[in-house]
Amino acid sequence: MALSGLAIYKLLPKTNCKECGFPTCLAFAMKLAAKQAELSACPYVSEEAKRALEESAAPPIRLVRIGEGERAVEVGNETVVFRHEKTFVHPPGIFVRLRDDRPPGEIEAEAARVCSYSVERVGLQLRLSGVALECVSQDADTFAAAVEAARRGCGEAPMVLLASSAGLLQPALGHASARPLLGVATAANWEEMAALAKERGCPLVVRGEGDLGSLAEMAGKVKAAGVEDIVLDPGVRTLSGTLALHTALRRLALRHNRREVGYPIIAFPGEVGKDLYCEAIAAAQDIAKYAGVIVLDRFDPAAAYVLLTLRLNIYTDPQKPIQVSPGLYEIGAVKPESPLLVTTNFSLTFFSVSSEVEASGMPAWLLVADAEGLSVLTAWAAGKFDAATIAKAVKQFGVDGKIAHRKIILPGFVASLSGELEDELPGWEVLVGPREAVDIPSFLKTTWS
Ligand code: SF4
Repeated sequence: MALSGLAIYKLLPKTNCKECGFPTCLAFAMKLAAKQAELSACPYVSEEAKRALEESAAPPIRLVRIGEGERAVEVGNETVVFRHEKTFVHPPGIFVRLRDDRPPGEIEAEAARVCSYSVERVGLQLRLSGVALECVSQDADTFAAAVEAARRGCGEAPMVLLASSAGLLQPALGHASARPLLGVATAANWEEMAALAKERGCPLVVRGEGDLGSLAEMAGKVKAAGVEDIVLDPGVRTLSGTLALHTALRRLALRHNRREVGYPIIAFPGEVGKDLYCEAIAAAQDIAKYAGVIVLDRFDPAAAYVLLTLRLNIYTDPQKPIQVSPGLYEIGAVKPESPLLVTTNFSLTFFSVSSEVEASGMPAWLLVADAEGLSVLTAWAAGKFDAATIAKAVKQFGVDGKIAHRKIILPGFVASLSGELEDELPGWEVLVGPREAVDIPSFLKTTWS
């Protein structure tokens, strides 16, 4: 349970020495309670007080890492129920399940397809996290061979290993990538599963029986057995059931500080939706509503693209637009005579405009003005994209020295700036371009040539 400012104050030395940077111990306590200060700023906190404070400062949803190295996935440690309250910080890992009843060659090829899938959006490379191997053969050697084949296909990408007993998991662990997520601990096997997870330092999935009570009880037993990194499977497989339980878990952890359910959630949307479209709908709900690990049953690039884009959108801080650096960009093999367009440094705007210019086949200069990462209309309405800003960018990025003409193409949405811009840039001709990026190719073909 998080402590109040006064409760924290009682644990501090109360000498008001100011070494923490605050005028009094009480002021420091209030900042600690508001999570605006670090306990380490006070050098005089006793060990006992430290333990009490650190416990209360532990995240309400534990941060769990799956895998190691550059592709490791970290999930949990969320602090809000709704994205508009602050932001969601750790995007769910998205895995694709492969079962060990397929030939190893097929598993390797499919794993390679999943792990090498990558798509660029707003300048970011989006990809799936890895594969989940499930032992349906009930044979430890077959499962180990399948895990080895998947490793050949995926390299060091994180893995999820699912089996009904620790005996089936153990041999496979020698072939898996580092620190896989193990599962599934149930009422029937939790002791052996917890012992294996503890021994190998791996996170562990625990499954309830479709209700929160059994889930919390199972998580409590596994924690008591020495496993700290737990992932919760509520055990329901309907769209409404997962929504209800995921929401209840998030609220219990954040609003009621129920540490026994303060862990990331795993979801299996392929068991909710029985075809690709229904699975994608269930996965989309899981992304929006609180899953930390999502195990798909189907890999389809079109569905993967949609889900990765949704994940990017949900886990982007709404208060910090994704930006590109302001500057003068060359799209294609530009010449001094090539057209000059101007836009803002909101990533989505930049990539929409630059890809349409590229599609036009006509090389062009793209001047990106600093509009604090806002889109054209929003920036204009906020006074961040006006004639003075554009004129400043023209000078700042040495546009005069790079182009032979004196024409600049404004986004159609800010046509009203053309008069002011001509005042700011004497001798320049201001052309009004299309409103939508998609119309840029035809505009360039008809107007510029
Ligand atoms: S450094 Fe510690 S003892 Fe000194 S004022 Fe800050 S909280 Fe109080």
